[in-house]
Amino acid sequence: MRVLVTGGAGFIGSHIAELCLSRGHEVAVIDSLRTGKVGNVPEGARFIEGDIRDREAVRGAFAEVKPDWVFHQAAQAALRVSVIDPWEDLSINLVGSVNLIYQAVEAGVSKFVYASSGGAAYGPHAPVPTSEASPAQPNSPYGITKHSVEHYLDFYGRNYDLSWMALRYSNVYGPRQDSEGEAGVVAIFARAVLSGQPPTIYGDGSQTRDYVFVKDVARANYLAAESAHCDVVNISTGVETSVLEVLAAIQAAAGTSLEPLFGEERVGDIARCALTSDLAAEKLGWRATVPFREGIAQTVAWTKGHYRL
Ligand code: NAD
Repeated sequence: MRVLVTGGAGFIGSHIAELCLSRGHEVAVIDSLRTGKVGNVPEGARFIEGDIRDREAVRGAFAEVKPDWVFHQAAQAALRVSVIDPWEDLSINLVGSVNLIYQAVEAGVSKFVYASSGGAAYGPHAPVPTSEASPAQPNSPYGITKHSVEHYLDFYGRNYDLSWMALRYSNVYGPRQDSEGEAGVVAIFARAVLSGQPPTIYGDGSQTRDYVFVKDVARANYLAAESAHCDVVNISTGVETSVLEVLAAIQAAAGTSLEPLFGEERVGDIARCALTSDLAAEKLGWRATVPFREGIAQTVAWTKGHYRL
């Protein structure tokens, strides 16, 4: 297959590109390097520097690559940025995505797999763990744009025969996640403890999230590309892990015992999040397989090597 990964110089996209290469596919990456790094693009993948909002650039990439499968990971992925700058979020996450979907339809791709968000989609009162049957009630510009793309996919699927899947990830963690800015807590804590700096916990640390390892997420994307279904599915573990438990697992893997600092709870942070993955099991034959401690050990080892701490 010929594969196009948008955002393939980023965290999750680079793992999808790597997995597709390892299965013998021809892989191209389009990325503007807004947050991604050329060094993340795996060897053997063709790299096209381009912005998904740029119609000519995207048209050119489709003409050059002629993809069978598109994995759309490129995004403004920071919830807080979307609150400060909703225009930037809207233009990348919605306009850029529609641009890609339109080109995918024109080019007749056989599967379009979209990185949606579970954590940002469901309302604060949804039962935990949350299934896809719970109504979407996004509480941020990021959640709104990520969710809106699912409606475009549904429209083009029903009216233009586009075959698609939207994967609502929970909290993804693993090697190559950026520890700068508003990154995942695992990346931030791993880098802090390995540098001997006490990590800061906002609130009392009892908030829970559903942490899914990046290689499991890449495999879910691959299965979604092979699947004949067009659907929205959670990609998650269903397990709640608290911030304190995350820190304890990282400290165990790193061999440290730093006392954390505690800061004010952040406005808008929800107390609990976990998503059921039964639909992914049914539609894709997918379940998360990497145990949390194993994923944390791999992430800590990568962090140590990458930052030379
Ligand atoms: P990331 O920031 O590492 O990767 C995003 C990539 O998109 C970067 O390489 C960036 O340079 C690129 N990009 C940004 N704007 C672009 C543009 N206009 N044109 C071309 N490329 C552009 O983020 P990630 O964590 O790998 O997230 C990948 C996808 O998964 C995103 O769509 C994100 O919304 C979604 N997601 C991530 C998580 C998570 O826990 N990391 C959870 C839910 C959903």
